[in-house]
Amino acid sequence: MGHRARPGHRQAAGPADDDRCRGPADRPLQPAAMSGAAEPAVVATIDLAAIRHNVALLRQRAGGAAVMVVVKADGYGHGAAECARAALQAGAREVGVATIDEALALRRAGIRAPILAWLHASDAQFRAALEADIALGVSSLAQARAVRAIAATLGRPVRVDLKLDTGLARNGAQAEQWAPIMRELAAAEREGGLRVHGLFSHLARADEPLHPLIDEQAARFRQGVALARRLGLAPTANHLANSAAALTRPDLAFDLVRAGIASYGLSPIPQLGDLGLRPALSLGARIALTKRIGAGDGVSYGHAWTAERAGTVALVPMGYADGLPRALSGRFSVRIGGRRYPAVGRICMDQFLVDLGDNPDGIQAGETATLLGPSALDGTLQGWADELGTISYELATLLRGRTARAYAG
Ligand SMILES: *Cc1c(COP(=O)(O)O)cnc(C)c1O
Repeated sequence: MGHRARPGHRQAAGPADDDRCRGPADRPLQPAAMSGAAEPAVVATIDLAAIRHNVALLRQRAGGAAVMVVVKADGYGHGAAECARAALQAGAREVGVATIDEALALRRAGIRAPILAWLHASDAQFRAALEADIALGVSSLAQARAVRAIAATLGRPVRVDLKLDTGLARNGAQAEQWAPIMRELAAAEREGGLRVHGLFSHLARADEPLHPLIDEQAARFRQGVALARRLGLAPTANHLANSAAALTRPDLAFDLVRAGIASYGLSPIPQLGDLGLRPALSLGARIALTKRIGAGDGVSYGHAWTAERAGTVALVPMGYADGLPRALSGRFSVRIGGRRYPAVGRICMDQFLVDLGDNPDGIQAGETATLLGPSALDGTLQGWADELGTISYELATLLRGRTARAYAG
């Protein structure tokens, strides 16, 4: 266990990042903290050993290709800098993020590995990025021209990865634009100071391993690489695969795979069953209060749950403001000690309740209710995602508010 930070807390620039190793002032204010307890009530624990394991597994699957660990959206809610560091220790070669702001935050946190940022607002700070040695994904002629103009004056090498839209119709340059952009970038290379390191593209249906669109996109991508070579570029780090493709289509690894979700131990294709990944995130909250209730007593807003028999309920101080989806009300369990108990009634902004029945183990305030974890009795993000009809990606990025973060492993 090490330092902790609030996922919802926007971190200040520079050395302030190190302040996250500090004590209670940085921690969320909660009843337990006010009573003098050292630990915050709700803690998401990230197992960095699990991240290293997952990255090692991805490297194995990628064969000769390198691994870029994707840590956009604060490392899928797991903490971008900490996860990037763990992944790099396990042999990832590069770090990928969506925005320049995310990339600059990683530089400030001391990450010195190559970082690629690929999603730019129209007023994105290309110069600041290039000065910080951030590689830029380029998706339009306007972006290529802007990078070329800066590269001409920067006095240090600039790395560009050209993003081709091969069928996702999201970010990336459309096919008609490929040749003009490549000519622009080839001219910039000849002027010196800029190098097109690789071409890349993103798959629309990689989570359906047998879907023909995957091969169609791969064919268009290969055409793009061939066109780039004809127009005088010599990209050596081409990349197409996300986690799903990295795990199921080693033939599409090219020079580099971009792995986000699998690095955190969550499956991009849950239907495939166990892929050997280890979820890094656990979530626990300390019980604030237990109380006896009588048969027929309603619990929480709307009395959505009513006790059939007299018994005990435990109050857990985590709610939707902390990232626990309200739609999970009455649809999940927690583990306390060696037993599972159902959460009952509505999830509120700050709290929810657990039915302890006759409370056979004599559970009391202060004990930890584990919502997510590695034991067979624990809930999983995938289980919650199935319950809610969404994907683990969305739930991993929800944790916020008073949820503190801790690192293990
Ligand atoms: C988010 C993202 C990834 C990572 O996808 P996973 O499914 O999490 O592996 C890779 N490439 C691009 C362009 C992305 O936006």
